[in-house]
Amino acid sequence: MLAELQNVTLTYNLDSLFWQIGKDGVYTVGDTRRHIDDHILPTIDVPTIWNKSLPRKVNVFMWRLRLDRLPNRFNLPRRGLDIDSITCPVCNLMPETSSYYFFNYDLASSVWRAV
Ligand SMILES: [Zn+2]
Repeated sequence: MLAELQNVTLTYNLDSLFWQIGKDGVYTVGDTRRHIDDHILPTIDVPTIWNKSLPRKVNVFMWRLRLDRLPNRFNLPRRGLDIDSITCPVCNLMPETSSYYFFNYDLASSVWRAV
């Protein structure tokens, strides 16, 4: 650390914020989103574009659903959590996956239709 600090030169100018990712050193949400899309999420072929008419938590939930990153019983063991069963706790017949709950489960389908 001392070796790194030897190359630092302090000046007597006023302190200022500089955002290296954005243009002109100014922070913008759009520049940050593009940086995340380009550098942090390289395996995703579709950029994260949020629907502004929906609450942020709904956007994040739908994004996690699309990527199959919801913490359901099928995904938890893949993240290193030890659980007794990966099957649906209601019917105990099918693995509790996101696609099961949101697209194949009769109870969830009836809720979606009601909404
Ligand atoms: Zn079930």
